[in-house]
Amino acid sequence: MIIVLLGPPGAGKGTQGERLAARLDVPKIATGDVLRAAVRDGTPLGLEAKAAMDRGDLVPDAVIMGIMKDALASPSAAKGAILDGVVRTTPQADGLSQTLASLGKTLDAVLLFEIDEDELVRRLSGRTTCDVCQRPFFGRQPGEACEEGGQTGTLVRRKDDEPEAIRKRMQVYRDQTAPVIDWYAHHGANMVRVDALGSLEEVEARMQSALGL
Ligand code: AMP
Repeated sequence: MIIVLLGPPGAGKGTQGERLAARLDVPKIATGDVLRAAVRDGTPLGLEAKAAMDRGDLVPDAVIMGIMKDALASPSAAKGAILDGVVRTTPQADGLSQTLASLGKTLDAVLLFEIDEDELVRRLSGRTTCDVCQRPFFGRQPGEACEEGGQTGTLVRRKDDEPEAIRKRMQVYRDQTAPVIDWYAHHGANMVRVDALGSLEEVEARMQSALGL
């Protein structure tokens, strides 16, 4: 099953995507996680992406398409994948559809997380993230330890969770990612809308019932 998670930053795509991937026993492909690991490791990909990420801008479509193709063609994605944070522009939506066609796969659903912008700003400005396993935490401080991923990590405030970058990411979402909703509607995708306000369990239950799981 191939499912695209769409929605503004902070809507819970990463957390819910992880749960959905576990439930369907498929990998979650999160371009943001791949890019942050590349920045941390200082690879050419990381060096290319870092400045745009820190500002809250998007990295170029061509970079994202490369990551997406490799991940979808990998044997671990044979049964499907949950795409978190990709696609974010209409050229990426087009590119994904061509990549899937070339791999003989189809897009089963686009899961759209809907949430009020004030709630997002509140969530993101209180978020810390483990520098190793990438899990987000709310109400925990930078510098605290994270033991969740099997390896000890440290909680950090993502540069793009600073107020100015948050505002920038919201604007980028409105300008460049929101049009993807219309693109999918126009191309007849199975668009499933989920109210993303509520506890993890509430949103997870809504998501599963919306997908008929
Ligand atoms: P995320 O973890 O999904 O919030 O992504 C963090 C940052 O990585 C974004 O603000 C972008 O700079 C970059 N990024 C991740 N996915 C994409 C994408 N599909 N297209 C362009 N930039 C991306």
